[in-house]
Amino acid sequence: MLTPEDLAFDREHLWHPYTSALNPLPSYPVARAAGCELFLQDGRPLIDGMASWWSVIHGYNHPRLNQAVFDQVAQMSHVMFGGITHEPAVRLGQALVRMTPEPLTTVFLADSGSVSVEVALKQALQYWQGRGVKGRYRFAAFRYGYHGDTFGAMSVTDPENGMHGLFAGFLPSNVFLDAPPLGYDMPVELSLITRWREQLAAHRHELAAVIVEPVVQGAGGMRIYNPAYLAHLRSLCDELDLLLIFDEIATGFGRTGRLFAMQHAQVIPDILTVGKALTGGYMTLAATLCTRAVAETVCRSEAGVFMHGPTFMANPLACQVATASLELLSEGRWPEQIQAMEAMMRNLLLPLAEIDSVADTRVLGGIGVVEMRQPMRVAEVQKKLIGRGVWIRPFGKLFYIMPPYVIQPEQLRHLIDSMRAVCTEAAV
Ligand SMILES: *Cc1c(COP(=O)(O)O)cnc(C)c1O
Repeated sequence: MLTPEDLAFDREHLWHPYTSALNPLPSYPVARAAGCELFLQDGRPLIDGMASWWSVIHGYNHPRLNQAVFDQVAQMSHVMFGGITHEPAVRLGQALVRMTPEPLTTVFLADSGSVSVEVALKQALQYWQGRGVKGRYRFAAFRYGYHGDTFGAMSVTDPENGMHGLFAGFLPSNVFLDAPPLGYDMPVELSLITRWREQLAAHRHELAAVIVEPVVQGAGGMRIYNPAYLAHLRSLCDELDLLLIFDEIATGFGRTGRLFAMQHAQVIPDILTVGKALTGGYMTLAATLCTRAVAETVCRSEAGVFMHGPTFMANPLACQVATASLELLSEGRWPEQIQAMEAMMRNLLLPLAEIDSVADTRVLGGIGVVEMRQPMRVAEVQKKLIGRGVWIRPFGKLFYIMPPYVIQPEQLRHLIDSMRAVCTEAAV
């Protein structure tokens, strides 16, 4: 139980994500969680609309995921991966190779999404070294993209959202392409493809790869776009001889209604990153997969090896719970669960667009987004939402949900009703 003194300690001594140490936003003490609910330490339940940043897809405190962790703790919680291998890593590698498109066969197990992006960028750089090509040190990325908080990942994140200005002078300078316009069903703008082609062609001799979040740009704007853009991007990369990296850290494992978002367009990248939902939200783990051709070329570089190896690489606990989470997915209830969520959000969340304070609403799979006209006052909105028994954390103008796949219809309805109430109050 956290006392008022403990909470004061938290405010004074612990950083929370993107918060001020001088004037932190309130943090609510959560004591436990189960299914689709978080329980505040005073016992109040909150219906979870966030899946803890996309990750807790099967719900909290899942008996099979718990058991996977218990079983593995009893064997070994960790062992170094240099010179050693173990069943949890091999089983997870097998599952990832099986689930992803066929050419992606080589797996690097990284400790977080951002690190898996660093690994992808590094693989692209070493790939060109392996081909004996000099000067390919930059990346092409998209406005509104988000790829993580480490420096390489930040350098390919939207320059404004990514706050490049704050770190200018240290961040590598990359090439930014205009993002595809909003709308899964919006026809492809060929003039945009032409502009991409011009920009990529102009920089091709210094570019190592293009990196993009397929179909949904997540933290950089919760933007859903026509998957056909990915096919155009693939052919531009083929034509101009550039590697293509898909960051599926947010979109992977069913969230968009396909197992991977790239499957909306049947386009395959040279390098793929996955994370977030990989362990069902139990602990941090991510992976970078690449084709055999990329892996072999990387190893023909001067180094002769791929130059990365974190201390906790392939942590057995994380691998074991990830394998259990992927098994739950392969049992196949997720497509119905996502379809049910999508149908209800189309019926109830899309119409929030009629409220004055709302600029736009959009839904894809298990993602429901309300974009407000004005940035939301997070502390105030959060308090109201907690009063209604729901956990949704807006940022900026974005008021969005991506609940655990196991959410019940009445719970989802309550989340959307609460969003409606907040939007309506914001209008008056
Ligand atoms: C969250 C996210 C990352 C970063 O993952 P972390 O585990 O937070 O480091 C990278 N790319 C995308 C698309 C993400 O959504």
